[in-house]
Amino acid sequence: MSTQMSREAETRAFIDKIESLSGQNLLACYQCGKCSAGCPMAKHMDIPPNQMIRYVQLGLKKDLLASESIWMCVSCLTCNSRCPKGVRIAEIIESLRQMHLRVRNDFFDVRKLPSDVLGDLPPIALIGGMRKFTS
Ligand code: SF4
Ligand code: SF4
Repeated sequence: MSTQMSREAETRAFIDKIESLSGQNLLACYQCGKCSAGCPMAKHMDIPPNQMIRYVQLGLKKDLLASESIWMCVSCLTCNSRCPKGVRIAEIIESLRQMHLRVRNDFFDVRKLPSDVLGDLPPIALIGGMRKFTS
């Protein structure tokens, strides 16, 4: 019983945090799928945009923070413009990236890149790869 309660509290805390960071009402999403249908990156994602929203509603934090999708999003905002409920999906994905980065989990470790790759990349590519912000 207490494990069930703590799981519910954890889920609620995660949802509250994402709603607070993104300024979005997650329950407004009714899973029409229009965001994923228009997303140019959906075919490269392990969890498409509408499912990311569903995962957040269900409190599946670990799966979301481990997903490639939050980094595949190119912040084009197409999903935002297609949502009939006015949900700003890109801001929700941005919140997931922020949550990931705030615990100091960079997407990749610069120190592990080969020196020839480091020499070729412009600094902005490295910064953009580690710290991605949409809004
Ligand atoms: S902002 Fe991200 S999730 Fe939304 S349509 Fe563009 S790439 Fe897809
Ligand atoms: S378009 Fe809006 S309502 Fe439809 S699945 Fe995406 S976020 Fe939910």
